[in-house]
Formats: sequence, C-alpha cells, structure tokens
Amino acid sequence: MDYALDHTDMHLMLSSVFSSTELLTVLAEASRVLQDGRSLLSRLEDLFKVFRTGIRYRDARLTCWFGSVRPGAQRQHFYSPGTRSYPWDNGLTRQVAMGQTIVRQSVTPDPESPGDGVRDHLRQLTAPHVYLGAPIVWGKRLWGVLELRADGTDDLGQPVQEFVTGLLPQLAIAIVAESERLLASSEANVQMLTRPVSNASQTDLATRTPFFSALEYELEEPVPLHTLLTHLLRWTLDETCAEAGSICLVDYERGELVMQVYEGYSSGAFATDALSAHQERISWDVGLAGRAARSGRALLVRDVTQEADLRPMEANVRAELAAPIVLEGVALAVITLDSPRSAAFGEQELGFVSMVCERAARPLYRAMKYQDVLEQSNHLGQVFVSLPMGVALLDTSGRVLRTNPAWATTWGLLENGERDGPVYVSLDLVEALLPRLTDPDQLVAFCNEGQHAPDDVQMFNVRLNDPKQEIHVLSVPTRDSLHQITGRLWAIRDITRERELDQVKNEFVSIVSHELRTPLTSILGYTELLLARDFAPDEQKRFIQTVYDQAEHLSGIVDDLLSISRLESGRMKINCWIVELRQIIAELTNQLGPLEYHRLLIHMADPLPAVYVDRDKIKQVLFNLVTNAIKYSPNGGEIELTVQEIGGKVPRDVLPNDHPDGSWVLVSVRDEGIGIAPEDIPRIGERFYRVDNTNTRRIGGTGLGLNIARSLIELHGGRMWLESVLGQGSTFFFTVPVATDKLRRRDEEN
Ligand code: ADP
Repeated sequence: MDYALDHTDMHLMLSSVFSSTELLTVLAEASRVLQDGRSLLSRLEDLFKVFRTGIRYRDARLTCWFGSVRPGAQRQHFYSPGTRSYPWDNGLTRQVAMGQTIVRQSVTPDPESPGDGVRDHLRQLTAPHVYLGAPIVWGKRLWGVLELRADGTDDLGQPVQEFVTGLLPQLAIAIVAESERLLASSEANVQMLTRPVSNASQTDLATRTPFFSALEYELEEPVPLHTLLTHLLRWTLDETCAEAGSICLVDYERGELVMQVYEGYSSGAFATDALSAHQERISWDVGLAGRAARSGRALLVRDVTQEADLRPMEANVRAELAAPIVLEGVALAVITLDSPRSAAFGEQELGFVSMVCERAARPLYRAMKYQDVLEQSNHLGQVFVSLPMGVALLDTSGRVLRTNPAWATTWGLLENGERDGPVYVSLDLVEALLPRLTDPDQLVAFCNEGQHAPDDVQMFNVRLNDPKQEIHVLSVPTRDSLHQITGRLWAIRDITRERELDQVKNEFVSIVSHELRTPLTSILGYTELLLARDFAPDEQKRFIQTVYDQAEHLSGIVDDLLSISRLESGRMKINCWIVELRQIIAELTNQLGPLEYHRLLIHMADPLPAVYVDRDKIKQVLFNLVTNAIKYSPNGGEIELTVQEIGGKVPRDVLPNDHPDGSWVLVSVRDEGIGIAPEDIPRIGERFYRVDNTNTRRIGGTGLGLNIARSLIELHGGRMWLESVLGQGSTFFFTVPVATDKLRRRDEEN
C-alpha cells in the first residue's frame, strides 16, 4: 500500500547545508512530531516537512514492515509529497534491508549501458542523484527502511547521516506502535492464518490479477534467457517484499544448480546487481533450493540457521523460500527468496511464488531452447571468425552474405564493409582484384559455372600479380534443412608458399640429379674404358686420377646435402678453439695447389690476433669462397684474400649495421670474374639459389655452398655479405670472433 503525502512547503528548501549541531534542533522537532498522538500518516507528513527545515533533499520514502499475527509481508510505503519524478530503485532498498547498514551512493544514469537487466533500465529513467538509505532495526528485527534522495553531489553527507541515525530509534518506536495498533484491530488476518494454504493463496492471488497479466505479457515477449530471469526475479522480489533472491537453472546430469541471476546479497560472494559473469554451481544436495529442485515442491523455512544442512547465502538471512519452476514433471529452475526477517514469508508468499513458477515454466523452457540455439550460433560464429582460411557464404545469385576476416586479408583487400550495397563475387570481387588478376576471364567463368551448376563442388586456383600470389578456391553448395540449395560456400587458401616450396623441391631434384649425374657419368665412362682394354701406365694413371677427382666431387655434394640437413635440424655442432687463421690459409693454398689461370694474392695484417673458431668449418668456408672465385672468373684474373682486424686501421663502419659488438677479424675474397647483377645480390646465399645465365649454367653447381658457408659463419656469431659489379667481379666478406678470455670462459661454462 502506498501513501502519498500532501504538497510540501517548498519555500522551506534551504540554500545552505546545516551542520551536525544545527541539525540537533531539527532532530528534536522531528522526535516531537513522531511522538504526538495523531495517525502515522499525518505524523510522517509533518516529519518530511520538518526534514526540509534542515536537510536539502529531493524526495524521501519510508518503507515499513508491520509485524502481524500471520507471517508474511505487511509492507507499506510512505512518500514525501510532490517531488517524486523518477521511480525508486527497490534493489537499493533491499540492499539496505539485507545489509542492515546505512548506504550512501551516487546514482548516475548510463545511457550507454546495455539495458539488459531491470536495474539498468531503471537507471536510464533516473536523473543523477545521491541516495541515502538507512535500515530501521530494533530488537534484532528489521522494521523498515528510510530513504532520501538529493540532487547535489555533496548533499546527504555526514551530518545528515548522523541525523538519520539519531532518528532511527524514534521511527522504530512509531512503527512498532503502529504494528500493535494494526494487530489489535485486525481480525481478518487471524482468520487467514487458519485457512489451508491453497485457499489462502487463491484469495490473495485474486487481488494480484494485474500483476499476473503484466507478468504473462512480459513472459510472452521473446527475450534472452538472462533478461527473462532478471525480470522474473525482480518482479517476484518486489511483490513478495523479499530482500534478496536468486534464480538457478537445474543441471540434472551433474545434480547441480547453476546460478543465473541474483540480487540483494551484500556480501562479497555476490554482487548486488542481478548480473553475474560467472555462473556459480552449487550441488543440489545442500540448501533449500536443491531440496526444492529434487522434490519439485515449493518450500519455506522460517529460520535457516536452525537447520544444519541449509547454507544461507549470507549470515543475515533468516527466512528462505524456494520454489521450483517445473515443466512436465521436470524442474527447470529454482527461485529462492531470502529475508533477514524470520516472519517475512507466509503461505501467501508460498502460494504466490508457486503460481509465478507455474506461469513462468513454458516461457522459461522456450527461452532456454532459444538460448541453446544462441549459444550454438555464437560458437559457430567464433569458429567462423577465427578460421585462418577465408570463408564467404553466397546466395544463389552469387551475392556475398557473410565473410570472415580472413576472406579480405587472403585476397589482400581492405576490410569487409568498406563498400555499401550488394557484393557479388563475379562482379565486385573480380573488379576489386582486376589490377592483379593474371586472367580475369577465368575467374568470371568459374563464378558463372558455379551458378549454372549449383550442385557441383568446384575447385580453382586464382593467380595474382604484384605481389605474386596463388589462391586456392573451393566452392561447395550449401543447403537448408529441407535440402534445398541456398547458395555456395567459398573457402579460400593462400597457397603461394606451398607453390614456392614445390618449386624449390623441383629445382632441388633437377639440380641435384644433374650435379650427381655429371661426375657419375665420367666415373662410369672411365672405369668402363679401363675395364675394356689395357692402357699405357701413364694414361691409366690419368684415367684413375679423373675417376678419383669425380668421386671426390660426388662425395663433396653428398657432404653438402648432409650439412644442409644438419644445419636445418639444428644438429650442426661447432667445436671452437684458439686458431691462427694464417695456418688455415696455408693449408688451404696447399690443398688448392698451383692455379692455372688465376693469381692468388694473400694479404694478412701483421700482427693478427688469433680467432676463436672451429678450424674445419672455417676452412670449409674459405675453400668455398676461393673455389667460387676461381669458378666464377672463367677468364682468369686476380683473386685477393685479405685478413685484417676490425678497429684501428679498419674502422667498424665497414661492418653491416646489424653486426654484433665485440672484437672481430674480417676476411674478404675478391675476384675479377663475371660478377653478380644488383637484383640477384639479395638472393645469393639462399638455399639452391643460382644466378641463371649462360655463364653459370655452363659452370654448374648446386647453390648449396654459400648457404652452408653463411650458416656456419652465423653459428660462430659472425656475418657474411658481399659486394659485386656485374662483369667486373665480386668480393665476399665474413667475420670471425677474436679469441678473447671471455669467449673461452663462456664456452667452458657451457
Ligand atoms: P654453386 O656455386 O654450387 O652454384 P654457391 O652457393 O657456392 O653454389 O653459389 C651460389 C650462386 O652464387 C652461384 O650459383 C653463383 O650464381 C653465385 N656466385 C657465388 N660466388 C660467386 C662469385 N664469386 N662470382 C659470381 N657469382 C657467384
């Protein structure tokens, strides 16, 4: 029951805020008003006027629970007159009642809020204000809640809270007295208690017809499960005057209740708002809600603290009511209501909540099914969005209905949605790709074919230029639940890299087989010759030498292949020690022997520090560079091998920018050969990469040597690079670390 008091004397509004001491006079006046002999309504009317002589507030409300002979809500609201322009948030009232402490809070409407819960909706209707709520407790019992709202952010501060605290016992006295008066005059209530439950609830329900029609209307709306539950809880809380409550869904398989929405609990376990991100699970073997779910019946307990297996959500809770929402014998959910007042719920509430549950069952079932579909589509949506493969759904006319992010990125297009209107693959996609398509007609034909034969599965590779790209398109028909064709699904994959790898593999096979065949042919030829007839010892020796050289060459190629595989798998180990490069170079020149068409010049700085390297590996690198210099200067010329320390005469800036710090020796091999064109330079050293021209084809090779050499140098921490001018010659450089104590110690520790 609500009472609106008469219009207030607005001229009493104060322009300044009173201090605590000044408010004492107001408190004295308020006590006097509360104690005079008139009706509660008249006294409260005057009380709210007295408030205005000392407190700046917009409106106020007093909620009272009158004790009665029967348990159940005897709630009444009294409002200050005139200024109520937005609804009261009963959630806050419940928070105050449940927590039994004073709550002061700034309330700001948030138009951006998702507006899912009722609370959010209420906030949107509210102007910004400050809220102050105080529980009226006496004898461990909650009698009411006094609430004030004000416009200014500084209003309802500390002095007002002290004032309210002082007034609370006086209000308790007034409510207790009114309760007793009501009790004495209420014969009807006594009779109601003696009636059986079903009658009592029906009598009461009759008076709530508007509530049920509104509830039914609301439940018929196709709303998401969470919204439906939020509304259901909020309505039930408001109508039963419970301070807190929750709704859990029943998980039969696991024998658990899954918390969906709750409101009014002030402890840390739950937020006061009905929205919760994580859904708590509770075994249905504990608690009244579990019992209600298992038994399928609505249950009521006056004092949960008296029952060992009931775990109240919060210490304050006394009365608890749990009612299952049952459809065809199966409990779908449980509504639980809690109150710190042990007489909060009676048969009326029990009957009422049971009735709510009955009406909610079918809409809840529908919402749960809808939620399932929503979850599934959400799940599929996530898969769709995160697929690395580009996917587009087309209708039967080739119009793009939906694409995932990888669709645009795979085609190298701007993000989807940049253009308005319909996007057809055969028109818009071809147009967007036109500058890059090597054969636009083929793609158009592919689209048209798909439309003419909607049943067919199609596959096609689209070639693009600039940058070179190859995209594999798989197009499959899509069907609806009646198996009718609805369009097509295009799944696209960038296969450029795969194609490159294929090409590398093919090159590898052709190069290696060619490189192996050449020495093998001569080995076979010479041995055949030697077996066929006798030769003069000189000639015989020459032939055998050739066979030996070719076999050695073969063995070199096999070694290279093994090195590549070891380097790739990280199994290549280097054994470093202090080495004099001078020694390695002497061994190298010995191995090379005298050169027929070239002049090998060696410049070694003096003094030259020892280096810390794997001697065999560095010899291999040097051998590769010098033999390349010989190979790739077919007309002879000078080959210059230079070794010098970085620092001093040779400045650090000769090294590449990304070169590591430390002490280094720089080795370079210069020739006057065929040189390398600028566009080929960046690719020199790639595995199997050989410059393709008549010279190199004639010279032969596998394109492995430099790749191995570079990897070996990098294993030592150094770098390899080159400079070259086509037709004039090339210089290859590499660095190796100077042997320092630090390096040695580091290795010993490892
Ligand atoms: P291979 O010599 O067996 O082909 P490398 O890895 O040693 O393999 O060299 C890769 C490519 O680099 C060669 O095919 C050649 O095109 C180019 N190249 C290497 N050294 C030189 C050089 N000194 N002058 C010109 N081109 C060179």
